[in-house]
Amino acid sequence: MESGAPRGNGEIVRLPRGASLSDFADKINANPGSLVQVLFGLGEMVTATQSCTDETLQLLGAQLGYEVSIVSPEDEDRELLERFNLEFGGDYDDDVELVARPPVVTVMGHVDHGKTKLLDAIRSTRVAEGEAGGITQHIGAYQVSAEVAGEERLITFIDTPGHEAFTAMRARGAQTTDIVVLVVAADDGVKPQTIEALNHAKAAEVPIVVAVNKIDKEGADPTKVRGQLTEYGLVAEEYGGDTIFVDVSAKARLNIDGLLEAIILTADASLDLRADPTTDAQGVAIEAHLDKGRGPVATVLVQRGTLHVGDSIVAGDAFGRVRAMLDDKGGPVDQAGPAFPVQVLGFTSVPGAGDNLLVVPEDRVARQIAEQRQARERNAELAMSRGRPTLETLFEKLKEGETNQLNLILKGDVSGSVEAVEDALLKIEVSDEVGLRIIHRGVGAITENDVTLAAASDAVILGFNVRPEGKARDLADREHVDIRMYRVIYQALDDVENALRGMLKPEYEEAQLGTAEVREVFRVPRIGNVAGSLVRSGTIVRNSKARLVRDGVVVADNLTVDSLRRFKDDVTEVRDGYECGIGLGSFNDIKVEDVIETYELREKPRS
Ligand code: GDP
Repeated sequence: MESGAPRGNGEIVRLPRGASLSDFADKINANPGSLVQVLFGLGEMVTATQSCTDETLQLLGAQLGYEVSIVSPEDEDRELLERFNLEFGGDYDDDVELVARPPVVTVMGHVDHGKTKLLDAIRSTRVAEGEAGGITQHIGAYQVSAEVAGEERLITFIDTPGHEAFTAMRARGAQTTDIVVLVVAADDGVKPQTIEALNHAKAAEVPIVVAVNKIDKEGADPTKVRGQLTEYGLVAEEYGGDTIFVDVSAKARLNIDGLLEAIILTADASLDLRADPTTDAQGVAIEAHLDKGRGPVATVLVQRGTLHVGDSIVAGDAFGRVRAMLDDKGGPVDQAGPAFPVQVLGFTSVPGAGDNLLVVPEDRVARQIAEQRQARERNAELAMSRGRPTLETLFEKLKEGETNQLNLILKGDVSGSVEAVEDALLKIEVSDEVGLRIIHRGVGAITENDVTLAAASDAVILGFNVRPEGKARDLADREHVDIRMYRVIYQALDDVENALRGMLKPEYEEAQLGTAEVREVFRVPRIGNVAGSLVRSGTIVRNSKARLVRDGVVVADNLTVDSLRRFKDDVTEVRDGYECGIGLGSFNDIKVEDVIETYELREKPRS
C-alpha cells in the first residue's frame, strides 16, 4: 500500500463508537491523512474528523491488519477511569467481592389502572409498619423491606411511573430496571397500554410480575385478565406458566405483601442480582431538576459500589462533588450502596434522566470526562444519523450482513387494519436469512412513545391512516426514525417486500408544507364549509394538496386548498401564527379541532 499508513499484525485497536479517522490514527500512530487515503482506495470518502460508522472502522482495520473492537460508552467510561486511576495512583481493586443487592422495580400499565395508587400503597404500608414516623419524600424512587421466608428483603421501586421514562432510559443504554410490575385493572382488563408496557418489558428482556389490581371493585374479573394475557405469552403459574399473577387492591391495601413476595421470588428465580459495594460508585440518574434553593438536584440509583458525601462525580455531561445526600424519607445519609436511591446535591448542572453516574478521583477529572462526553454525544449523534435503518437502506444492511432482521412497529386507525397488515407482513417470504419482527402494534396516532421504542430497537414505523401526533414527528426527525405512512395496505406490503429484495423504487416523497388547526367552521352559501383556522406550522399555500386529520386519524386525503383567505382578501399563502379561512373544495366534513395538513410531492433523491 502506498498510503504510508502503518500495517498492523492483528493487534486489537479499541475505538469508541462514532470515532473518527483521527482517533483511529492516534491509536496506531499514523497520520490521519494516510487513513483517509486508504479508505478512499476502498471507495469510501471520509474526512479525518468525521465520525465513522462501526463498519467503516472495521473495514479500515481489516485493510490495515488491525482487529478493531468498538467500545460501548460504558466500557469507554471504565477505560477512561482506569486511565485516570493509573495516573493518580488511585486504588483500583480487582478482587471483586459481589454481594446480593435488592431488585429494582418499575411499575407499568394502562392509564388509570392504578400505578400511582399502587406505588403509594406499597410505600405507605411499609412505612407504617416499619420505619416509624418517616414522612416520605417523592424523590423518584424509594426502597421498602418485605419479609419473605422469614428473611427481611429490600426492594427498590422507581416511582416515576410511565413508559416514557423506562424507554427513554433504555434508549440511552441505561438498563436500570430488573423487574417490571405490570398493573392491570381487574374490572377493565387488558388495554392498549398494557400491551405497550408488556412489549417494552419484553424488548428489554425484563421479567414481569402481573399485579391484577382493583379486585375490591364490583365486576372485577381477575381470571379474565389471566386469560387475556395468555394470548400475549404471559401464562400464570397456576396455568402451568412461569409468570406470577398477584391479585391486589391498591385502594383497599389488599395483598400488597403478596405482591412484594412475588417480586422477590421472581428475582430469586430468574435473576442473579449481585454487586460489589466496595468500589467507587457507578449508577444512573433517574430524575433531576433545578431546585431554587439547592441548585441541581438528581436522584441517583447506585448500581455498583458505594457513593459517599465528598465524592467527585460525573453524570452525562454534568459534574460536581457530592455535597449532601438525602434518602427517600428526606433524611441525610452519608453513603449509598447498590440499588439504594438517593437525592444528590452538588452537581454544577442538571444531568439527564438515564445518564450514567461515575465517581472519579478528583474534580478536574470529572470535568474532563463531562467534556469528553459532550464531544462523544455529538459524534454519536452524527454516526446515528447514518446508522439507523430506513426501508431504503435496509437492503444494503442486509447485504453487508449488518442486520438480518427488520423490526417494525405498526399503527393503524382500526385494529382490523393493524391485524390484517400484520398477517400479510408475516407471510412475506424472501429468504431464510431475513426475519421480520413486529415489536409493537397498536391503534391510534403515532406517539412519542412509539418513536422512542423504535429508536431503542432500530425499528421502522408503519402507519395506516394515522399520523404522528404532537411532538412525535420532531422526535422522529431528531432520532432519525423512519416513519412511513400509508393509505392502503398493499402499498405497505409492496414497500416492505421490495425493501427486503433491495428493489425499493425511487419514489415521490411527501414534503409537508404546513398545518392548520380548525377553530371555527363557517357555512358560506354556494361555496360550502370554510375552516376558520390558525396556522400551526409552516405555511398554508393555496392550491397545494391537503388532508384532514381528526384525533390523529386521516379522515380525508387528496384534497386541495381551493380557497385561502385572510379576512376578506384572497391570498396565496399564510404563515404560521396567523389566522385564515381555508376552503377544501366540495369537501365539507370539517369539524372544530381538526387539523388540515398541506403537502406537496417531491421526487425523493436516492442515495
Ligand atoms: P394510574 O393512571 O395507573 O397511575 O392510576 P391511578 O393510580 O391514578 O388510579 C386511577 C384511579 O383508580 C384512581 O381514581 C384510583 O383511586 C383508582 N384505583 C386505583 N387502585 C384501585 C383499587 O385497587 N381499587 C379501586 N376501587 N380503585 C382503585
